[in-house]
Amino acid sequence: MSQRWITGPDVPLPRLTQAREFVAYWGDALGMRNWRISVEVGRDLDGATARCGVSFNYDDACIELQPWLLGLGAPPPRDVGAGYSAATDEEAFEATIVHELLHALMRRRDRAAARIREQLPDLLRSAYEQLHADANEEIVDALAWLLVRLRRAPEGGGGTPNPDGG
Ligand SMILES: [Zn+2]
Repeated sequence: MSQRWITGPDVPLPRLTQAREFVAYWGDALGMRNWRISVEVGRDLDGATARCGVSFNYDDACIELQPWLLGLGAPPPRDVGAGYSAATDEEAFEATIVHELLHALMRRRDRAAARIREQLPDLLRSAYEQLHADANEEIVDALAWLLVRLRRAPEGGGGTPNPDGG
């Protein structure tokens, strides 16, 4: 498990450590070995469970997690859906991390979509944005859960992904 490209504040939180271990495993598995990916306690995330800030010029990403996902601060709001179970359920927590990594991998697609959006008349902009965002979320979430469940499956999952590849 590669740790060398993981940065961020050294907060002694078991859940944060676990999140970084998931990032190390899945970063390798998704071919992001050369990325610098930090995992941090999120601020101002509004209703989002997590958020991934990503650079377009460098292979840098920062995953921010709601404090309640890390056992900090107030408990999650009741209406937070899948994120609520991620506060207690390790599989959902791992899927949250994979979800954010997949967003990072889709940065070029997202930027192209943003450029198209800029060219649209006002009436179409928000509709296009919603369409794009909804489609992204569905795909990213389905893939994240699929990957995590395959890893955790008794047969065929597990092990170290692509140990010698790059
Ligand atoms: Zn998302």
